[in-house]
Amino acid sequence: MEKKKRIVIALGGNALGNTLPEQMAAVKITSKAIVDLIEEGCEVVVVHGNGPQVGMINNAMSALTREDPKQPNTPLSVCVAMSQAYIGYDLQNALREELVNRNISNIPVTTMITQVRVDENDPAFNSPSKPIGHFMTAEEAKLAEEKYGYITKEDAGRGYRRVVASPSPSEIIEIGAIRSLVEAGQLVIACGGGGIPVTLQGNHLKGASAVIDKDFASELLAEELDADFLIILTAVEKVAINFGKPEEKWLDDITTDDARKYIGEGHFAPGSMLPKVQAAVKFADSKEGRNALITLLEKAKEGILGKTGTHIHQ
Ligand code: ADP
Ligand code: MG
Repeated sequence: MEKKKRIVIALGGNALGNTLPEQMAAVKITSKAIVDLIEEGCEVVVVHGNGPQVGMINNAMSALTREDPKQPNTPLSVCVAMSQAYIGYDLQNALREELVNRNISNIPVTTMITQVRVDENDPAFNSPSKPIGHFMTAEEAKLAEEKYGYITKEDAGRGYRRVVASPSPSEIIEIGAIRSLVEAGQLVIACGGGGIPVTLQGNHLKGASAVIDKDFASELLAEELDADFLIILTAVEKVAINFGKPEEKWLDDITTDDARKYIGEGHFAPGSMLPKVQAAVKFADSKEGRNALITLLEKAKEGILGKTGTHIHQ
């Protein structure tokens, strides 16, 4: 029998919705797309983003501190941990149901609370770049900066958002446990929201005030699990050069050399499309035969069959 293709899927914010009821509805659609790939004979590992959700949890915990002065401020790392459990719960619930609906009874679903080590000297700590939370108008952003000391930035033409430090992931602490579960045939959700950022202080792992980009965390996970495919599912069917301009061109199939050239020419917005293309290039270059794909959630199956999306290879 041919060995199953191992796929690490990185789910973007649009796969999860912005509110509790929206997420409950969105994960049903997301689960269909994921189980489609399992039915195609793939072994799937799921990573998800948490931009809107970690922003929401952070706002809720700030409100708690304002209401009850005995409650100290909640570190961003704890907010990421909460987002992993909240999103993991909805996702594993919906995935289980979708598997049962299709009479697949031998694939248990697990969410692994995952810590990811970052370097405390990562220059990213000095220049916050990762958008989290809801979109704001310019006026709302100015108010949030004055009131809460947030740093806000314009996000790919869609409005303003709070930005936080986004250091690179250097080690997945729970990789041994994740690998055991994947090897045992489980459907694992791991490195949610890019992982809980921690720095190593002697034997202690200390939570860091940051949010790791899930695109980079999923790339590291895909390398660690020796995956065949890294699939980044997002809000666009393909990656474009001259995005949003009259000369816009959608890309079907590019080499990592092409991609590096386009990155150099500034075609991809930092904090949104740039990390995806960078992660795709890093994965495809890491070993022969490894491929990356960026496409829409609903097109995941068509994408792995080579019918759509932007494919990135050596
Ligand atoms: P996710 O939540 O999936 O991580 P992001 O919002 O971070 O999604 O990134 C996807 C967005 O990147 C797209 O919806 C699009 O608006 C934006 N984008 C920026 N540059 C490009 C580009 N060159 N080609 C396609 N999309 C781009
Ligand atoms: Mg993103």
